[in-house]
Amino acid sequence: MSVHNDTPTPDLSSKAVVQLQHLAEYLDQIEDRLQSFRAIATRRDDGIDFAFPFGRASFELSNGQVEIRARAGERDDLARIKDLLATAVQVYGKQDSPQIRWTGDFCEETKLPQFREMTVMEITQLTPAMRRIRIAGADLGRFARFGGMHIRMLFPTSRVPQPVWPTLGKNGLAAWPPDDRRPTPRAYTIRRLNVEAGWMDVDFVLHSGDSVGSHWAETALPGSTVGIMGPVGRPVPMDAEWYLMGADETGLPALSRMLETLPASTSGVAFVEVADEGEVIHIDNRTSIEVHWLPRNGTAAGMDKRLVNSVMAVKWPVGLACFGWFAAEAEGASIIRNYWRTELGLGRDQTLAASYWDRMKAGSMATGGLAKA
Ligand SMILES: Cc1cc2nc3c(=O)[nH]c(=O)nc-3n(C[C@H](O)[C@H](O)[C@H](O)COP(=O)(O)OP(=O)(O)OC[C@H]3O[C@@H](n4cnc5c(N)ncnc54)[C@H](O)[C@@H]3O)c2cc1C
Repeated sequence: MSVHNDTPTPDLSSKAVVQLQHLAEYLDQIEDRLQSFRAIATRRDDGIDFAFPFGRASFELSNGQVEIRARAGERDDLARIKDLLATAVQVYGKQDSPQIRWTGDFCEETKLPQFREMTVMEITQLTPAMRRIRIAGADLGRFARFGGMHIRMLFPTSRVPQPVWPTLGKNGLAAWPPDDRRPTPRAYTIRRLNVEAGWMDVDFVLHSGDSVGSHWAETALPGSTVGIMGPVGRPVPMDAEWYLMGADETGLPALSRMLETLPASTSGVAFVEVADEGEVIHIDNRTSIEVHWLPRNGTAAGMDKRLVNSVMAVKWPVGLACFGWFAAEAEGASIIRNYWRTELGLGRDQTLAASYWDRMKAGSMATGGLAKA
């Protein structure tokens, strides 16, 4: 069996026995999802093993019952694996109404390991429509791990000005308070993280219309509090030789972060749609990826076709390890995802086209399995 060389010796473990009558119908999807979180999967006659860089997991089938095991060397890693497994089972096994209840190490824990309460430190207006907010909190090390760049921010609202934060449920997932005490989630990117100093920067697009995240960013003051959960999102491989990227302003924080952290030898092309020239920001691009700005100049956000057309017009080079990354409004993301996956026949391991917002609805992608890929 091939395993991650750096998988730690797993001496902590948890187990859940779950009725999943139709597992055979969705095991491929669970496998695919966990692989996209860096698991190496190995099928057996009676189940499947997963080796993550931070621990292991297995599904063992017998008589319609499935024994799910999570093993890791550290508490946070065990919790991460339980969360990934439980989320995958809940997302794909809906038809079996899975009842997951973990037993074993730390199963009595109620503190949600991926949650932190954060306090606003500093606010910087980067451009007329982009506001950077530095938030501070304790013990941020996990946000530099697991390969996820994003967080789910939990906002107070006028209806719930003092929300009750989620705790850890017996199923390894977040347990939420009743609606009248519940914070409102939205997905954002960790633009910059300083674990030692205990802060992270989040760049907020300030947009019109009734909103939660944008409204919070416009009204937050130093000392305001907000909850975060994470990191979330599929890890983007950092070892491709050539990248094709496309983003509107909501994907710009993630795109900037990648251009600042990918190896200098990386080449490729990136397109960034912004409202106008005034929204162009400086990116400390360490790579040879060429950045092209596409100002909408009056066309409404989510209505300009040039981003999608520009990305589709690029020919993928032959003979290089390539990766396509796209983050923008839902319709464009769906066009690019179909084009890459169906027309070009590229796999999930070579592409990530994610809907970051939806002009037809509020709060898109904030609660479920995050961005589709
Ligand atoms: C993984 C991920 C990472 C993200 N990272 C960032 C980030 O770092 N910075 C960031 O600003 N956004 C980011 N987004 C996008 C952000 O989550 C959405 O824009 C979200 O809808 C904002 O919530 P809201 O409460 O402000 O607006 P909502 O309450 O969700 O929506 C209210 C109304 O505003 C519209 N709307 C929402 N977003 C926009 C927009 N950008 N422009 C114009 N109209 C809009 C909606 O269609 C709706 O009509 C990310 C999304 C994902 C999935």
